Amino acid sequence: MIPYGRQDITQGDIDAVVDVLRSEFLTQGPQVPLFEKALCAATGATHAVAVNSATSALHIACLALGLGRGGLLWTSPNTFVATANVGHLCGADVDFVDIDPDTFNMSASALRIKLHVAHEAGKLPDILIVVHMCGQSADMATIGALAREFGVRVIEDASHAIGGRYQEHPVGFCEHSDICCFSFHPVKIVTTAEGGASTTNDAELAARMERLRSHGITRDPALMRGEPDGDWYYQQIELGLNYRMTELQAALGVAQMARLEDYVARRNALAERYDRLLSDLPLRRPGRLSGVLSAFHLYVIRVDPARRKAVFDHMRAAGILVNVHYIPVHTQPYWRDHGFASGDFPAAEAYYAAAISIPLYATLSDEQQDRVVAELARALA
Ligand SMILES: *Cc1c(COP(=O)(O)O)cnc(C)c1O
Repeated sequence: MIPYGRQDITQGDIDAVVDVLRSEFLTQGPQVPLFEKALCAATGATHAVAVNSATSALHIACLALGLGRGGLLWTSPNTFVATANVGHLCGADVDFVDIDPDTFNMSASALRIKLHVAHEAGKLPDILIVVHMCGQSADMATIGALAREFGVRVIEDASHAIGGRYQEHPVGFCEHSDICCFSFHPVKIVTTAEGGASTTNDAELAARMERLRSHGITRDPALMRGEPDGDWYYQQIELGLNYRMTELQAALGVAQMARLEDYVARRNALAERYDRLLSDLPLRRPGRLSGVLSAFHLYVIRVDPARRKAVFDHMRAAGILVNVHYIPVHTQPYWRDHGFASGDFPAAEAYYAAAISIPLYATLSDEQQDRVVAELARALA
């Protein structure tokens, strides 16, 4: 069996986790700050806040930016459902911006048009969540400039993109956004089993996210109402969620982060190999945005929609566990119940009808990749 993605766990990773089990702190110890330091080093951002999932990171990023009842969040329909769900978790409304068919990312031109229409109608979004689909950064310079023009805050959902670069900087540097969120689910680039984090260059946003990931509690007298009763004293000054990451997870993350560059280099080498080996088959390979180093979480091919199911079934039957990313979020029953319908975002729907994610992970061997290509050729013959 060749899965579409999988984690890489070394003896060093195992030792790092076992060391934590033998230590004083299973939670709220030194490993989480070390992991955050590694994230700052890898992204160039000044602050990182580790939490128990990317969903949690996106949720408290929205809360820290003030999203609440009566607010509005826009994102891409071509994402995992969590990206949109966090809008509703904050009590806000959600809408979508259609994708660019070449890069599968939010279309900057669709965004421009939608922002102008929303401005006319007096219904601008408060927050835009931009997804870096497959690990390739969206066109952040254009999107960031549009967001600034219309006073919209920007969160990057970089669940696929740690280790990637956009122009001069690593993804997570937040040159064109307020906050950037990562996932460390085992299928992503580096893992903490479950886990997520946000990076930002805004100290106040970081402090707010740190409070929200705990219980809205502070020990800083400057933030308290009245005087502290003594050294034990804390005050709850807002509503928090207990989204903390454990020391076990953070230790695994620190060990994994040491291999981030190697992982992304291997994923890119495999992607270039796919580009070459698939060039004669009747399929569309993923498009590239210039000035971007993709982290290549996913390699998505597009085939004739009439044959997509047959190709998928052929590959699965051959032990190659292909997948599909993503079913457009707005077509899910939950979102249909909130007013969306098929046809609302035609580019995302056309992409979905043709898409298949083929195996790509750092420990995939050239020989395994050759087997994937040979089986694809048979499926498409
Ligand atoms: C995986 C993923 C998430 C959710 O990540 P969790 O860490 O599982 O909460 C959100 N957005 C995208 C684009 C993802 O791929």
